[in-house]
Amino acid sequence: MALLKRNLWTLFLLTLTAGSAILVLLLLSSWQSIVAEQKSLHSARVALVAQSMDSVLRTQELLLTVVGREILRAGDLPQSPQHSPELDRILQENPVAIGLGMARADGELMLVSSSLNLDLLPNLLRTETSRDSFQEALAADTMVLGRTYFMSAMNNWVIPVRKALRGPQGDVIAVMMSGLRIDGQAGILSNSLHSGAYDRVTLARASDGHVQFMSEQGMSPEQYFKFRYQAETLIDQNPEWESLPPADTPQSDTPYTYRIHRDQQNYLGAAQFNNRFQMWVMSETLMRPLWVMFFKNALLYISIFLGSFVALFIMFRIIAIAEAKRLKELMYLSRHDELTGVGNRSGLSASIDSLLRRKQSFMVAVVNIDHFRGVNDRFGQEYGDQVLCAFARRLLSVVGEKDVVARLGADEFVLLIKAVNLQALESHARQLSHQLDKPLELEQFPLQLGVSIGVAVCPRDGDSVNTLLRSAHLALYQAKKSRNDWCLYREELEQAYIRRVQVEQRLRKALNLGQLTMVFQPQVDHVKVVYGYEALVRWYDEELGQVGPDEFVGVAESSGLMPALGRFVMEASVREFSEFVGVQGEMRKLAVNISVLQFLQPGFANDVLSLLSRYALSPKQLVLEMTESLFISNFDDVLAVLNELREQGVRVSMDDFGTGYSSLSLLRNLPLDELKIDKSFIDGLLDDHKAQNMVASIISIARSHQLELVAEGVETEGQYLALMAMGCTLFQGYYFGRPAAFPVEPKSPH
Ligand SMILES: [Mg+2]
Repeated sequence: MALLKRNLWTLFLLTLTAGSAILVLLLLSSWQSIVAEQKSLHSARVALVAQSMDSVLRTQELLLTVVGREILRAGDLPQSPQHSPELDRILQENPVAIGLGMARADGELMLVSSSLNLDLLPNLLRTETSRDSFQEALAADTMVLGRTYFMSAMNNWVIPVRKALRGPQGDVIAVMMSGLRIDGQAGILSNSLHSGAYDRVTLARASDGHVQFMSEQGMSPEQYFKFRYQAETLIDQNPEWESLPPADTPQSDTPYTYRIHRDQQNYLGAAQFNNRFQMWVMSETLMRPLWVMFFKNALLYISIFLGSFVALFIMFRIIAIAEAKRLKELMYLSRHDELTGVGNRSGLSASIDSLLRRKQSFMVAVVNIDHFRGVNDRFGQEYGDQVLCAFARRLLSVVGEKDVVARLGADEFVLLIKAVNLQALESHARQLSHQLDKPLELEQFPLQLGVSIGVAVCPRDGDSVNTLLRSAHLALYQAKKSRNDWCLYREELEQAYIRRVQVEQRLRKALNLGQLTMVFQPQVDHVKVVYGYEALVRWYDEELGQVGPDEFVGVAESSGLMPALGRFVMEASVREFSEFVGVQGEMRKLAVNISVLQFLQPGFANDVLSLLSRYALSPKQLVLEMTESLFISNFDDVLAVLNELREQGVRVSMDDFGTGYSSLSLLRNLPLDELKIDKSFIDGLLDDHKAQNMVASIISIARSHQLELVAEGVETEGQYLALMAMGCTLFQGYYFGRPAAFPVEPKSPH
């Protein structure tokens, strides 16, 4: 679960990282796109303005040269300033200019267009704003741009352009000049070349850095004519990262882009240099609005990213919660029993492990329902399931809140009791047994169940899941022997278990090799005449020595060897008996002890009948001795087999009568021919009133049910006489004869 959860969130982190990388790329791309767009815009604008200006200036230069020479050819300059109709005519054809004039080399304007007031004409050499550029014009062969200034004679701001006209010897005869209008009424120089508040288009003189013209929001000639760029921020513009080295820029007639820090502001722009007229054309914008534009884009991208991130996080969280819920359900299913809802083996192991880690003392009680299979067989599995569920609820009701109930298998449950008082273990187990003994309230009818309980305590009886359960099972095995009982684990049980395993292994071998033997104990009538024999199995093992039938029959029943043992007993008894009575030629009876497991073998009745037929015995000679437990479970199945055998004449006897739970109604419903009084009653017959009463009662029951009665274990004459006096007529016991092999049988176990 943790791995999956980690993987899920790892996937989320990877997605987030990839998303962040994409966001960074998008932001970078957005910034580059903004910058590229601005560069492209300013480059195009600069190229357009520079070309237009070059064209205008070249036209002006040509015009000034031609007109000037025409005027000089027509005659010398006048002695005093005059308006010139010729210049007025030219001015009308030249809307780019606001005024025209011709000056002498000493700076005095002698001919002017009528747009100039003759009284206000300046001397260009003596006026500060025009002196430098006028001198430049006197020295230059090409037209020279003067500083932008306010010309009072025209009452207007102009960009003066001046062209010196020279004589044959190269001396300056006159200087033609034109004032270019910057009010936007004609030509390209208007305050609409820029776009937006942070944008500007600038023309500047290369020689001194004076701004000739500036198109910028809120900017007028009065303001910008004072501007003068420092050489390092104009001529030697620093083209950061740009392709054109600064040294080459003046020679370039194509725009180049730059970024520059000037007057505490950052600018991005493009510039082009006009080499002929020594003029820079620049178009630039402040970086700040670009940053603003970028941050707006970035805000949008980041909002989308954050929105997607939140949606993704919610989606992953929903998946993680669903996954956790599913894993929790799976974990619950893996640790609980599907039918009853209590824990299963895996859940129990986890609980025990957890307690072991905390080094806590606790008690493990394995609880097994006695004869549960009989409930299933008689009432059906659906009812059986109801019983298991009701029993699980009962278990939950008898344990504490922190204790654990688990179901290991069919009818086997385990209680894990945490608060345990080692001194009061016995009373705890007894109390548990008592509480579980009460009838279960079920929908159809209440049911009284017998339970056997095996108890082990940690750490005394085991320090792991396996050893504790094993100890509890050994105790359960012991408890099962007496049914409806409880047992605490003791070390002797371990020895008993090892003995049981040894007995099982040796018995398996003995059965394969036919090492068991039969002995026969005579049964006599009231005058001590033998009328039959009870066949008894004996086993002498090389390693174990003499093993009692009580021990190895029990082992055979619990280890699946009972059918083989039963087959051996039946076959050997019938064979040896037939050989013996064949010699004697008498119709005596043979009593054989039968286990419930044999009755449930398919074809048991047919096998018995064909065995009798094979050895030429009449079914009437055979008595099957059964114990009462045979009828407690699988009642209907056993009844059918019994009836089939009785129809053929086989007789049925109930062995050890009086020791079990038989009721009179059971006797009435059973197809019985005989009762055998258990030896324990005969033992106390002479000095125990209870035993005498019991025997008297059994004799009375036998009579009232028309059943024959055999007294077992008669060992003294006194017992024989007492039984005779009470009305008993058939006997078996050492007093009459010990179990022994028939004389015709050559082999003997001893
Ligand atoms: Mg018997």
